[in-house]
Order: sequence, then structure tokens, then C-alpha cells
Amino acid sequence: MMDLKRVNDYMKRVEESEEVTFKPVGSKLKVGLDLGTAYIVLVVLDEEDNPIACEKRAASVLRDGIVVDYTGALAIVRELKEKLEQRLNGRELINCAIAMPAGTDSSVKTHSYVAEGAGFEVTNILDEPTAANSIYQIENGVVVDIGGGTTGLAILKDQKVVQIEDEPTGGTHVSLVLAGNYHISFAEAEIMKQDYSKHKEILPVVKAVVEKMASIVKKYVDPKEVDTIYLCGGTCCLTGIEKIFEKETGMKTIKPDNPFLVTPAGIAMNC
Ligand code: ATP
Repeated sequence: MMDLKRVNDYMKRVEESEEVTFKPVGSKLKVGLDLGTAYIVLVVLDEEDNPIACEKRAASVLRDGIVVDYTGALAIVRELKEKLEQRLNGRELINCAIAMPAGTDSSVKTHSYVAEGAGFEVTNILDEPTAANSIYQIENGVVVDIGGGTTGLAILKDQKVVQIEDEPTGGTHVSLVLAGNYHISFAEAEIMKQDYSKHKEILPVVKAVVEKMASIVKKYVDPKEVDTIYLCGGTCCLTGIEKIFEKETGMKTIKPDNPFLVTPAGIAMNC
């Protein structure tokens, strides 16, 4: 079982590291770069995996896990790297790990080129749900990472990842449905969706999209073999998403207080 308190405490410190720069233990700094469909995030950990600093920016330089605007992606990663280096009193960040949705192998090179173009040396390449499990440390179960563009999953048996899958349907689809329903722009729908006070109202509107995400999990996971779903990714911030997952899949569904930065922090752990 995942120690939910440990995960919540750890993620709270990652969140704090967006505002506060913590003093690192040891000499090595580890960086995780999450090039996402909706956000680009850089997380810095010290050699004992304590969160030190984090920067993120909303961006639409990827589609379905693939970089569609290389120059745009490069400019943002450079900017975030420089911001972090300034916060670290000019200390250069060199090594970084990257991750991508499971099964998008063809774009591994582009992801690496973006990181290298921004001045990083790529030390490790992971898939997103496996990276998330570095935080969760689940022995048996399924880690489900719902980002902007896709729903990804990693099935774990006896601490080993035995299967990874990824399919389109993510937060972007949720926002499109909201935009259509309320006759507002996509940007306005994003703002509405990220307002926790609106979640109760919007959940019934986007229920079918969430059910589609749950059906992706159901398609690959045998409830006789796997009994618990562990959610992460920005879209899982939606209040009540776990209840829809439980109803659709019949599986116990767990999510931390803030599932948003789990994957980027997990990527950094593997640097
Ligand atoms: P992908 O993994 O699919 O490439 P990504 O890495 O950009 O995408 P995340 O950063 O995990 O994905 O999540 C981004 C998504 O989370 C966006 O669709 C965003 O609107 C959504 N999101 C962020 N915060 C919230 C919130 N408070 N409530 C609901 N959705 C949110």
C-alpha cells in the first residue's frame, strides 16, 4: 500500500518549492523535465531527493505527447532553467531526466533535443506513470497519470512495472467540453476548470469524459489481478474524479491531496 501521508507531505514540499528555494543537502542536484501537453515543468531535487526548487509554465507546444513546436518548447525550457539557476544563486543545472507518455517512442529524440538544446545533459528517459511511481512506491496496483493530452497507466506487480499504456483523452478534452457547454473560449474553460469552487458544478458536465478515461484503465486492467488505482496528473485535481473512477472500474481509487506535480518530481528522482 502507498503511504498517503508520506506522499502528501512530500508533494506539499514540492509545491512550496515553487515559491521558496530550499538549501540543498550534498553537492549533486537532480532535475526532472516534464514536457507536457498543457504544462512544462522543471523540478530540482538534492541528492537525497529533497525538493529544492520548481518552475512551471502553461504551454501548448506538444500535442498527444509529441512536440509540435520545437522552437517554442526550447525557449520555455531555457527560460525555466535560467529562472531556477538564478534562484540557486547562479549554480548551473546540468543533468536532467525526461519522461514521455508511454508508447510515444518516436518522439524520444525530439524530447531529448529540447532538453539538450536548453543546455541539459539527459541522464535518463522514463515513461510518465513509471516516473510517478518513484513517488508512490507501489508494489501492486495501477498508477494512472492523466495530463493535458492523454491518460497513461503503469501496472505494477511485486514492485515491477509489467505493462504501460497510453491513450488520448486528458484535460484538454475536459476543457473542450466545458467550452462547448458554457459557450466560452478554451482559455476561459481552462480558468473555470482550475477553480476548485466550480468543481461541483462542472463535474456532471464532464462526467462522460472522465468515464472515457476510466474506460481506458478498465480496458487494460484485470480487476481480478489489480485491485487499486493510484491517480496522478493535473486532471486528477478535479474534485470527485476518483468517485467516477471507482464506479466505472469497480476498483478502489486513491489520489493524493495534490496530484499535479507527482510526475515531474518522480522524473527528477530518476536523474
Ligand atoms: P501530458 O502528460 O498529457 O503530456 P501534461 O504533462 O501537461 O500533459 P499535467 O501537467 O499533468 O499534464 O496536467 C495538465 C492538465 O491538468 C491540464 O489539462 C490542466 O488544465 C489540468 N489541471 C491543472 N490544474 C487543475 C485543477 N486545479 N483542476 C482541474 N484540472 C487541472
